[in-house]
Amino acid sequence: MAVRKFKAETKQILDLMIHSLYSNKDIFLRELIANAADAIDKCRFESLTDAKLVQDWKIRVEPDKNRNVLVVSDNGIGMTEAEAVENLGSIGKSGTRAFLKELEEKGEKASLPELIGQFGVGFYSAFMVADKVEVLTRKAGSEDPKSAVLWSSDGGGEYHLSPAEKETTGTEITLHLREDAKIYLESWKISEIVNRYSDFIAYPIATTSVKVNEDKTETVEEKILNSQKAIWLRKPSEVTEEEHKSFLAHLSHWGGGEYTKSIFMSAEGTSEFKALLYLPKNVQYNIFMPELQKKGLQLYVKRVFITDECKELLPDYLRFVKGVVDSSDLPLNVSREILQENSHIRKIEKALVSRILSELKKMRDDEPEVYTGFFREFGKILKEGLHTDYANAEKLKDLVMYETLNHEPGKLVSLAEYVREMPESQKEIYYITGEKGDVLRTSPAVEAYKKQHYDVLLMTDPIDEWVMQSLIQYAKKTFKCVNKGDFETDDEAKKSLDELKTKHEDFLKKLQEALKDKVSEVRFTVRLSDSPCCLVSAENAMSPHLERLFKALNQQVPTQKRILEINGDHQLIKALMTLDDKSDNGISFNDYAELLYDQSLLAEGSPIADAAKFNRNLTAALLLGLKK
Ligand code: ADP
Repeated sequence: MAVRKFKAETKQILDLMIHSLYSNKDIFLRELIANAADAIDKCRFESLTDAKLVQDWKIRVEPDKNRNVLVVSDNGIGMTEAEAVENLGSIGKSGTRAFLKELEEKGEKASLPELIGQFGVGFYSAFMVADKVEVLTRKAGSEDPKSAVLWSSDGGGEYHLSPAEKETTGTEITLHLREDAKIYLESWKISEIVNRYSDFIAYPIATTSVKVNEDKTETVEEKILNSQKAIWLRKPSEVTEEEHKSFLAHLSHWGGGEYTKSIFMSAEGTSEFKALLYLPKNVQYNIFMPELQKKGLQLYVKRVFITDECKELLPDYLRFVKGVVDSSDLPLNVSREILQENSHIRKIEKALVSRILSELKKMRDDEPEVYTGFFREFGKILKEGLHTDYANAEKLKDLVMYETLNHEPGKLVSLAEYVREMPESQKEIYYITGEKGDVLRTSPAVEAYKKQHYDVLLMTDPIDEWVMQSLIQYAKKTFKCVNKGDFETDDEAKKSLDELKTKHEDFLKKLQEALKDKVSEVRFTVRLSDSPCCLVSAENAMSPHLERLFKALNQQVPTQKRILEINGDHQLIKALMTLDDKSDNGISFNDYAELLYDQSLLAEGSPIADAAKFNRNLTAALLLGLKK
């Protein structure tokens, strides 16, 4: 017999399970049944091309009061020794790593029940009710009963592995129940849990019960505990919220299955399929951890499971949608490669996208608060569609929301609302991109707009700037980035700017010379009222925000020189124009120029390159002011 140690993280999870005061221990059975159903799904899929594997698929849950054990078994795919080590001895593919990370980050504040509810921890939850767990397993397709393997552990630091014998292929899990978990030997309790959490499982979940006859003899009866009714084939009105949650948790291998909306679809005609989709309530952590992510929807063909990662059924920007599609048109022996080019799949995808977008629109109109909650959670992902799904761009434009300058922080405004509130004199839709809403609100670049009571969309998602490249117009109004390009001015303003330029030509040249390594041009502007200066990008240039993002991703991007715009009416600029070069004040014109430049960076929320120099210059300038 081999004794092996659990990987460190696995040990941590086990300790948590064992010492958990989590009140809903019932879920251990849901998790084991889900694993059994997955194992049968896999085997059934393989049996489509290998008839030897076909079985009378079944999951069994058998209590044995004499031995104080509960046995959960299946005739699914089983495991080889190496697979048992990989799957049960180390941290699984499931959410366990993310679970621990969350726990670590939240520290003492973490509520264990909540986390367990949110993540679900699969197989290891068995240790909530058992002080010893044995897994006897034999791989489907293996000919030799002696090729089985027995894995066992008491939840301490180690587990044991030994060669074993098993008559049938599949997996049998024996739980030696703890003193306080004897309730799980009661048939009524088992029925109750299966009814609540696992009724939709497509395979029979059987148990045997002993019936005492009138003549005191005993008969053993097999009872099927679940209706096995595929949830997506049932009448929508008859599926309870609890059932939806269990099903979604099962689909996503993740947590409690909280959802915002369930969508039933039944399509007939050119493409025949049924689908049940969910908009989950929260982002699943693995959506941003691609290696942990279950990608795509589950696909069935005429109720036969094909794959739980059919990526082709939804575009990437709807990857947060979970669910199942059951098609009548595809061949049963469809391979994963065929899926990629299949015209039926294309048709289904189109129908799903159109339905999801119209459900979202409905939600936005009928339940604005629910929609806002949804958008806060998934908006970043949905927005990708503006750039990638040209055909649905118009629909998507009606779904996106932003914070704006004229609305309080936290309030999201749709483009339709923005346009409705535009004063007549305003011709374009203004936006600004950056990292933080509060910095954008006080950015010098929005001053002039604030003064004219024009609103500005505040775009703070990293994806926004990329998306804006394809968002040219909405309601026939062009989008205009307020810290890029020229500021629209009337003839009068233009004239006064020209005058300023001629009058202070030398000053502009001098300032430009002082900052020649940093800016491409220095010019007067009427964009500003309270601030002395600001930095703007050329119309087609990348913003500093995006430039930093690319650099953070280790992408090569040239540093772009921007334009320094100065406010000719500002006291500081006026004082600088008349600065007497000759008097030695401890701070030169060039130092002032750099201070101005650094100040503009700070005002827009960008870091300054040389903080020490900035401090030196600032101290000198302050001293001078104080001495006067
Ligand atoms: P998850 O199911 O979320 O991946 P688990 O911790 O529940 O995580 O299970 C880990 C792995 O162990 C599964 O992915 C599967 O490969 C394997 N496994 C668990 N139960 C069974 C079973 N009854 N039959 C075959 N393999 C199983």
